[in-house]
Amino acid sequence: MEPGYDPLELAKRVRALVVRQGPGGVEERRYYRFRGGRWYGGIATGDVVGCNLRCGFCWSWRTASHVMARGFFCTPAEAFRRLMSIALRRGYRLVRLSGGEPTISRGHLLELLEAFRGKGLGFVLETNGILVGADRSYASELAEFKHLIVRVSLKGTNEQEFHSLTLAKPDFFRYQLKALKNLVDAGLEPGERVYAAVMLSFSPPENYEQLKERLAEISPELAEEIDEEYVILYPHVVELMRRRGLRPRLAFKPNDVPKFMI
Ligand code: SF4
Repeated sequence: MEPGYDPLELAKRVRALVVRQGPGGVEERRYYRFRGGRWYGGIATGDVVGCNLRCGFCWSWRTASHVMARGFFCTPAEAFRRLMSIALRRGYRLVRLSGGEPTISRGHLLELLEAFRGKGLGFVLETNGILVGADRSYASELAEFKHLIVRVSLKGTNEQEFHSLTLAKPDFFRYQLKALKNLVDAGLEPGERVYAAVMLSFSPPENYEQLKERLAEISPELAEEIDEEYVILYPHVVELMRRRGLRPRLAFKPNDVPKFMI
């Protein structure tokens, strides 16, 4: 049997704690906070609580991703109001969900996307992709929203790196790649409305090259438009990596990170 946990099973357990049915069956999600920020040239962000992976370099592990019982529940309407208010006040053209894993609350996410339809703002979904890779119909539902951009964040460049970084069963790396394929098949333009981000701090260059070949098999544009991610050595991230025995080959000190990335 493969070592590690099953992220689909973990998603069910996390969902039980971070998602609830409110009045009228509206799906509410736990959030940690709403904020503005300079990523993407300026974006309003809702950080959701709870994730179905346990990455050993996660910046939000204490506040959002590895915890499940903190934060506050929000309806899609309330999340819309708060994101819209930040975007209008600061003149942003984009909003996003980040922090934990937004796809765990499917009904909430789809309703929030619907609320932003026709409002003139782009909606960036930052996801590990596992749930979208496991279910083509999820990709089809997401592809209905023309204002949506999906950033699938790959945890390493192959099955072995994925396992050592997340402790999940190695084979679920394929679900991350499958998410990209499902979204491209559903009609999202590769390299524009769906693209891969890759955590490269722990990867030898040759593994990265092999990943590019796998991405090119899905679509050449995916291999050309990769968002390269590296660990930023915040003290709480260093502490998590120490506990997990992870040593990055390349990482940045917080002071070395350009201001637009913070
Ligand atoms: S998938 Fe993202 S949010 Fe979840 S543990 Fe990994 S880095 Fe953190």
